[in-house]
Amino acid sequence: MHQMQFKEIIGQEEIKRQLVQTVAENRVSHAQLFLSAEGTGALPLAIAYAQFINCLDRSATDSCGLCSSCRKYERYIHPDLHFSYPFFASKDVKIAVDVLEEWRTMLLSDPYVDLDIWRAQLSADNKQANINIAECHDIIKKLSYKAFEAETKVLIMWLPEYLEKEGNSLLKIIEEPPANTLFLLVATNQEHILSTLLSRTQIVKIPKLPGETIEQYLTGKHNLSAEQAATYSFLADGNLIEAKALAAQAHNDNAEIFAEWLRMGYGNRGLDLVSFTDQAASWGRENQKNFLKYGISFLRECSLILSGADSLVKLPLRTLDTAHKLCKYVLNLNMASAIISELEQAHYHIERNANPKILFLDVSLQLVKIIKFKTLPKGTQYIYN
Ligand SMILES: [Zn+2]
Repeated sequence: MHQMQFKEIIGQEEIKRQLVQTVAENRVSHAQLFLSAEGTGALPLAIAYAQFINCLDRSATDSCGLCSSCRKYERYIHPDLHFSYPFFASKDVKIAVDVLEEWRTMLLSDPYVDLDIWRAQLSADNKQANINIAECHDIIKKLSYKAFEAETKVLIMWLPEYLEKEGNSLLKIIEEPPANTLFLLVATNQEHILSTLLSRTQIVKIPKLPGETIEQYLTGKHNLSAEQAATYSFLADGNLIEAKALAAQAHNDNAEIFAEWLRMGYGNRGLDLVSFTDQAASWGRENQKNFLKYGISFLRECSLILSGADSLVKLPLRTLDTAHKLCKYVLNLNMASAIISELEQAHYHIERNANPKILFLDVSLQLVKIIKFKTLPKGTQYIYN
């Protein structure tokens, strides 16, 4: 996700409506505290709200995504969009701006973040995160300048819980802000916020995401089966960050197992194939279908690599490496195409209650034929030569 328009944010339709309404009715409160549990999308919402306010061509419900302001918002480089967040002070890192590049990189890859993700981005294992006095002074300084190009300067402070009592130095500017300045604070733990700060902000409560919203997201965007999506949604309990982590784990497992299966087709590994078949037979139908679907989309990506269209490939880094190796040593386009067709047939038969043990053994033998003996099944149409 690179655009930070409301429409890109998962669920939260009622909150979006309310935020848009404040703009339509010209009653945007200049200091707002978005308060929510983790993984509801409060930070993306705050960014989308700021982008909407500053969009030069907004519609009734969303920013345009195309104007000069939106384009700078999209890359988090608008000169009148400021971020503050906890960081890990060191000799080289004295204020939040010193790690702004890392912050932008993280948001560009995914704006649904928590402190653990931010910590990993900074490779700061056990250090104490903090929004310190130097940062407070920097905020006051930055906001005292006139806006460069936007109508409204915005400061988004993520996790104001990490302001210690030095945070009181911000009270004056929050209470009597310079003209056209908007403070959006994004917090998860009301009890840890300075009460002086709480009393000066308007609280916007962001609800947890309903289970079915997360399920839809997981089946739609992560290609999980309905059953698996329901399980992960239940485990994630409204936290989309958690749900994504579970889905990524599932894909990692599928990726690893699938790549290994292809390697079995290449080597003299009959016994491994038999034990793979036993294993796959025990997964249950939903997981089997899911695994086959994963294999099909993985091989489609491999086909892109094999046709030299690397830039179109959408695989996570680790899986991408595996795909490159397979394309270099094991697969060619015709093989990929033949295996995809085998997997599609297998999926069809699993849906119609085929015996999974027989089926996976059969597909395994086809893999050996295709990969090791380079024999493509008869009657298959190939688009590639
Ligand atoms: Zn715009």
